[in-house]
Amino acid sequence: MTRRISIFGATGSVGTSTLDLIGRDDDAWSVVALTAHSDVPALAAAARAHSAEVAVIGQEALYADLKEALSGSGIEVEAGAEALVDVARLDVDWTMAAIVGTAGLEPTLAALERGNSVALANKESLVSAGGLMMEAVRASGATLLPVDSEHNAIFQCLAGSRLEDVRRITLTASGGPFREFTRDQMAAVTPAQAVKHPNWSMGAKISIDSATMMNKGLELIEADHLFPIGLDNIDILVHPQSVIHSLVEYRDHSTLAQLGSPDMRIPIAHALAWPKRMATPCQPLDLVTIGRLDFEAPDQVRFPGLRLAREAARAGGGHPATLNAANEVAVAAFLSGRIGFLDIATIVEEVLAGYSAPKPRDIAGILEADGQAREAASRIVERVQA
Ligand code: NAD
Ligand code: MG
Repeated sequence: MTRRISIFGATGSVGTSTLDLIGRDDDAWSVVALTAHSDVPALAAAARAHSAEVAVIGQEALYADLKEALSGSGIEVEAGAEALVDVARLDVDWTMAAIVGTAGLEPTLAALERGNSVALANKESLVSAGGLMMEAVRASGATLLPVDSEHNAIFQCLAGSRLEDVRRITLTASGGPFREFTRDQMAAVTPAQAVKHPNWSMGAKISIDSATMMNKGLELIEADHLFPIGLDNIDILVHPQSVIHSLVEYRDHSTLAQLGSPDMRIPIAHALAWPKRMATPCQPLDLVTIGRLDFEAPDQVRFPGLRLAREAARAGGGHPATLNAANEVAVAAFLSGRIGFLDIATIVEEVLAGYSAPKPRDIAGILEADGQAREAASRIVERVQA
């Protein structure tokens, strides 16, 4: 039986890995929608290669370009943020949410409200609006399948068990490219150095988040929503080889871990095939070649993102959305060379310190906190730059 699937963020790192997997068994999948922000040629090529029903380009001004690139294909063309949400409401069996940043929030929420299976890579949406998203899951009966490798690992370690029997969840972290750098060394790093992750090949934004370790902070908040055992029971452990993707300790002190090569196609395949399994072209794990696995405690002084994320999670309300939005602005400013690497966390901390508002009640409230944080962060970027 073919399954109808849509991929949001189809031109990105997770999106193309998903297309790579489904392209290996065309009969199993029927592609409904593919979306991208601005890369018209890549979106058009993917839509043609996978015979998509609809292609959506996020930037409205690129509608005519996409229309032309898909002329004669019979593929429907849409553009703009609203179109992304409309297309997320189409009838499908499985959706990959792989847009980066808060831009993915509304389409992801719309897909969850439909009540089918949603594979979630877009962690920023869960960080900003996790409460509302988990409510949508409960209300619609949707199946939320975590794709982030750590959360997918935890999901696998929990199979057949009760969350109330879990004592501790440990998120592993590679430590990123600057794991052994001093603060002085970090002050001088360039965007090119920071996007070079030692183990994973990923999009630019998450690569910078891995270098600041804010990624692990965002993942802490993500885990808190997906596996509600209490923030204090979720730990972070630095494990430079990225072989153990996370661990779950039960009340009897038995600990389960999920291991695999650092290739996102493994967790994506798990979410695609769930509750079954599918073959992948990924490297099998060769522990003899790897030889040893190392572990160390995370350093919250050199990597303040870890502390800021835990504080924002504890404060709740609009704090996580504020943390996330300020971080998105600061990461973009670093990537474009406007601020230094250490300014990223400083900006997030300053924006969070200036935030005080009642708890957002709905998506509009979350987006308001997000917008205010972006404005505040942009003002600080200008000041730092001057
Ligand atoms: P990426 O930058 O490679 O791709 C992002 C995708 O989102 C692209 O298709 C882009 O066109 C689209 N997009 C960007 N801005 C948009 C906007 N404003 N509106 C609509 N579409 C937009 O990113 P990625 O590395 O594939 O990451 C995607 C998500 O998955 C992120 O939330 C990331 O944290 C998460 N994730 C990625 C990895 C990984 O290995 N890459 C691992 C775990 C989690
Ligand atoms: Mg991860």
